[in-house]
Amino acid sequence: MILILLGPPGAGKGTQARRLSEGRNLFQLSTGDMLRQAIKAGTPLGEKVRRQMDAGQLVSDEIVIGIIADCMESKDCLGGFILDGFPRTLAQAEALDRMLEEKSCRIGAVIEMQVNDEELAKRITGRFSCAECNIGYHDQFRPPKQESVCDECGGTEFVRREDDTEETVVARLKAYHEQTEPLLPYYRAQGILLPVDGMAGIDDVTRQMNEVLDAVKTD
Ligand code: AMP
Repeated sequence: MILILLGPPGAGKGTQARRLSEGRNLFQLSTGDMLRQAIKAGTPLGEKVRRQMDAGQLVSDEIVIGIIADCMESKDCLGGFILDGFPRTLAQAEALDRMLEEKSCRIGAVIEMQVNDEELAKRITGRFSCAECNIGYHDQFRPPKQESVCDECGGTEFVRREDDTEETVVARLKAYHEQTEPLLPYYRAQGILLPVDGMAGIDDVTRQMNEVLDAVKTD
C-alpha cells in the first residue's frame, strides 16, 4: 500500500509513520528527515536547503520531487511505503500522481491528522529526540521515564531540531495553511482522504489510524 500522512507540523506524522511502518511493514519516506541528513552531512543539497528550513519555509518543489522520485526507485519501496511530509504543495501532489501512474500504482489512502494550531505550537516547542535511535520525546507531554536516559536504547544524548523554535513555528504553520491545506480538498475529491483526531494521545491516534486503514480495500 502507498500511504500519505498529511497534517500540520507537530501533528505527529513522524511518530505515527514510524509506528505504521513497523506494524504494516511499509517503508517510511520522510522528506524532512532526508533533508536534515543532507544538512548534517554537509552535502551540496544540504547547503541549498538549510536557509529555507531554518526559516520554516518550504524548500523548492523541484528538490523534494527529485528526492522522492529517486527513493521510489529503491527496492525498499517495492512492498509499499508511507510518505511523511510529502506532498506539501499541489504541484508536489500532481507530480506524485504522475510518477505513480507511470508505475501503474496508486495511493491507497491519505490520512489527515487534525490538530489545532495552539496545540501544535505547544507540541513543537517542547519536543526533542534521542540522538542515537531518534525516538521522540517532549518536555511536558512525554519526558523519558528516567531523566536524560532514552527509554528505548539507553542513549544519553538528545537533540532538538533547529526549526523547532517559537519564531519558526509561525512560519511553518503559515506554510501549512497556505500551501499544504489545499491538498485536503484535492484528495477528498478522489475519495481517499481519511481524517483522524490528532489531538488524542499517541496510542489512540495509532489505533484510529489502524482502524481506518483496516477498512480500506486494497487490490
Ligand atoms: P518536517 O520534518 O516534515 O517538519 O520538515 C522540515 C522542513 O523540511 C520543512 O519545514 C521544510 O522546510 C522542509 N520540507 C520537508 N518536506 C518538504 C516538502 N515536501 N516540500 C517542501 N519542503 C519540505
